[in-house]
Formats: sequence, C-alpha cells, structure tokens
Amino acid sequence: MKIDIPEFALVLLVGASGTGKSSFAARHFRPTEVISSDAMRGWVCDDESDQAATPDAFAMLHALARTRLRNRRLTVIDATNVQPAARKSLVALAREAHALVVAIVFDLPEAVAVARNAGRADRAINAGVVSRQMRDLHRGLRGMRSEGIRYTHVLHTAAEVDAVTLTRTR
Ligand code: ATP
Ligand code: MG
Repeated sequence: MKIDIPEFALVLLVGASGTGKSSFAARHFRPTEVISSDAMRGWVCDDESDQAATPDAFAMLHALARTRLRNRRLTVIDATNVQPAARKSLVALAREAHALVVAIVFDLPEAVAVARNAGRADRAINAGVVSRQMRDLHRGLRGMRSEGIRYTHVLHTAAEVDAVTLTRTR
C-alpha cells in the first residue's frame, strides 16, 4: 500500500499493543518526529511500563505535540490511540495548528499481537489487554472520519505493513 503523508500533518498510529506501531515508526519516520507514550513514561519516571505515570506521560505528549505542530513540524503519535477520546484530544491539537490528521491503523489479527507480545523482552502485556484494545479499535473505526481524521489507512496483515511505501506530499 502506498500512503501519502502531507508534509505538515499529525499522524496517529492506531492499534493494539504488539501490532508493530513503534517498529513502523522507526522505519518510516525520523526519531524526532515520533512522540511515543512509552518513551514519555520513561522520561517522566524512568520506567516505560509504569502505568501510574500515564497521566503525566500524556500531559507531556500533548504539550510536545502542540509545540511541534505550532512549529509546523510533522508529528507522529506512537500510542495505541484505540479510544475515541484519546484521538479526539489529539485531533483538537491539530485543529488549533491547522494540521491535517492522518491515521494509520494496525488492524492485525489478535493472535499475531498476542504471539508477538509473548515474545517481547521489553514488556509484559497480557492477552486480555490486547483483546480489550482490539474491541475498542473495532468499535471506533467507522467513526474516525467524523472525529476529524481526514485520511485513514487500514493495514490488516503483517505483510501489508511490511509492504507500505510512504510518500510525503506537499
Ligand atoms: P506497544 O503498543 O506495546 O508499544 P507496538 O504496536 O509498538 O506495541 P512493536 O513494539 O513495534 O509494537 O512490535 C511488537 C513486537 O512485534 C516486537 O517484538 C517487534 O519486533 C515485532 N514486530 C513488529 N513489527 C513487525 C513486523 N512487521 N514483522 C514481524 N515482527 C514485527
Ligand atoms: Mg510501541
């Protein structure tokens, strides 16, 4: 799949844990373009998996996204973004800055995410969490356009993810 990304945009990576968002971000974007909720947890408390740090981490994530968008820098949000409320607050930041919002959705089979998470050394994520995230994702998928997300690209398999070519457009 060919995905066009406007030079100035807010890109939301959307998908359950283990679906490959961070790997995709590392492959297609510059490190400074990507704001990750896990990295933010690390910044605020030295532990990327400390859920108690979530409110602080997201406050920082929003502040940094707002600043980058104000500077008209392409900004990629690497978080699960499966809940409409999480997306809405980010879309609001984009609107303030007149940035287009593009979503790249990692709608991979649940079994793939669970198997990958089981093999991860960096984090322990239980299957129940993934299952809930998948449910949230599927409930909200249809409504993303009405949330203010201009373009939504949905990837269904690992092969599709690996075959993506990303082009920046003016
Ligand atoms: P989280 O939401 O928990 O941060 P994530 O969506 O960012 O998860 P990654 O960390 O990118 O997921 O990937 C999870 C695991 O799956 C890693 O061990 C990674 O090596 C593997 N993985 C990611 N993308 C692919 C891919 N395209 N093909 C095969 N394995 C992959
Ligand atoms: Mg990740």
